[in-house]
Amino acid sequence: MSRNIMLVEDEAPIREMLKIVLEQAGFSVNEAEDYDIALEKMVEPYPDLVLLDWMLPGGSGVQLARKLKEHEFTRDIPIIMLTARGEEEDKVRGLEAGADDYITKPFSPKELIARIKAVMRRVTPTASDEVISFSGLLLDPVAHRVSANDERIDMGPTEFKLLHFFMSHAERVYSREQLLDNVWGTNVYVEDRTVDVHIRRLRKAISTFGHDTMIQTVRGAGYRFSVK
Ligand code: CA
Repeated sequence: MSRNIMLVEDEAPIREMLKIVLEQAGFSVNEAEDYDIALEKMVEPYPDLVLLDWMLPGGSGVQLARKLKEHEFTRDIPIIMLTARGEEEDKVRGLEAGADDYITKPFSPKELIARIKAVMRRVTPTASDEVISFSGLLLDPVAHRVSANDERIDMGPTEFKLLHFFMSHAERVYSREQLLDNVWGTNVYVEDRTVDVHIRRLRKAISTFGHDTMIQTVRGAGYRFSVK
């Protein structure tokens, strides 16, 4: 399945050009020409990345970035801001609003694709498309589904990523800091206890058949996913 990019750009010729570049690189593209349309189209399945123009009618790119970062379901979607400005102050504002990277027009298609791939790698360092299963607990990264003894389980995007990371690194202990770096990404500022909150939610989500006991607290060290 190809990764989807939401392209938010009001100027049609630039949007068309970018769409071609992205599709040639193997991405599927969902276009939005302004702030409101972008928000309208921001529904499941969520894009894997948002390419966001700084200057938009009906609300700036920075406002949109802030809005996406406010909501639980869109918070984890990486954002790359596109802008004609190269001023340091704007870059800082964009990054503060939650953008993961920043690219100044004009840029080459090659540079854009390289940046997109770098951001995707950084925010989803554990991304692998293989289905993983342990003792009846099954995670399908492509379908974005988890099931326990064939019963579908619903969970938030962070819990999903956390479980994906744990299941791909079974029997190893990770500190809260390591989990933050690997699951939330190094670019995001969150407190250590955020990890505990999401661990609690994840355990609850997979508790129906007792799979929550696979996520073990290792006193003084962190957490471990274990089938033993
Ligand atoms: Ca524009």
